[in-house]
Amino acid sequence: LFGYVGIEAVLDQMRRKTMKAGFEFNIMVVGQSGLGKSTLVNTLFKSKVSRKSCTPSYEEKICKTVKLHSVSHGESTHTHTYTHTHTGLEQSWEPIVKYVNEQYEKYLREELHVNRKRRIPDSRVHCCIYFLPATGHRLRPIDVEFMKRLGKIVSIVPVIAKADTLTIEERQEFKERIRQDLAANGIHVYPQKEFDEDPEEHVLNERIRESIPFAVVGTDKEHQVNGNKVLGRKTKWGIIEVENVAHCEFANLRDLLIRSHLQDLKDVTHNIHYETYRVRRLNESNM
Ligand code: GDP
Repeated sequence: LFGYVGIEAVLDQMRRKTMKAGFEFNIMVVGQSGLGKSTLVNTLFKSKVSRKSCTPSYEEKICKTVKLHSVSHGESTHTHTYTHTHTGLEQSWEPIVKYVNEQYEKYLREELHVNRKRRIPDSRVHCCIYFLPATGHRLRPIDVEFMKRLGKIVSIVPVIAKADTLTIEERQEFKERIRQDLAANGIHVYPQKEFDEDPEEHVLNERIRESIPFAVVGTDKEHQVNGNKVLGRKTKWGIIEVENVAHCEFANLRDLLIRSHLQDLKDVTHNIHYETYRVRRLNESNM
């Protein structure tokens, strides 16, 4: 069929159908206060991809406590972000774990309803962006503990926050050490090797795995560079262009979330994380 109709036409139709039906994509951002979570979420919505591919009327209100933030409402496309700030001191992963599980539970109850809705509202967390402070050292014990727990129930994408505070060498070495620490602690981050579906996807995902955690920079300002408006941070020694891959890896994160892996994040959430929850719940209870 694909050979005859042309894969692009088929994909186009799928895209049109998805856009028409609408989809919900929920991102959770987790990390210590002041690491630039709100700024990065704003950057994501201001950046080129979202400007081009989604409806532009975004209104964002993000505050610094544990709250649900309903963010963009395009015509039929919903993106929600949920910001959780932890102090970096106490063991406060419970509210996050609880929040994630509550969304699975809501979905499960809808599914088990006799008169099931045609479209079940989906508030499940499709991706958790975990903010690591740019210490340049190793993973902190608190981050290990958080990610160990979260990685079991949700797709985590770790990022190095405020990467503009590290030199190129520091950044590379820090990234390498974090990858070692993630592996040594058995922390599962997205995209997981086990879920690569075919060799092509494996190659693509290997490239992503090799560059995780993305070293990101956020901003809510635009500046003029060579006559173009760019999202950036102005410093005394120049402008850090947030969407420029030579400057930082924000664009890699954005493309992963909104462009290349959006559907996969939704699929992994449904087929793996939610499924694990569902099986556990149905086994333990008499629902
Ligand atoms: P949150 O508490 O994690 O939501 O952090 P905010 O987004 O409120 O940011 C805290 C402060 O860090 C603000 O003054 C931001 O302007 C600044 N900030 C945010 N992102 C970056 C970044 O990528 N680099 C630098 N140098 N500062 C940043």
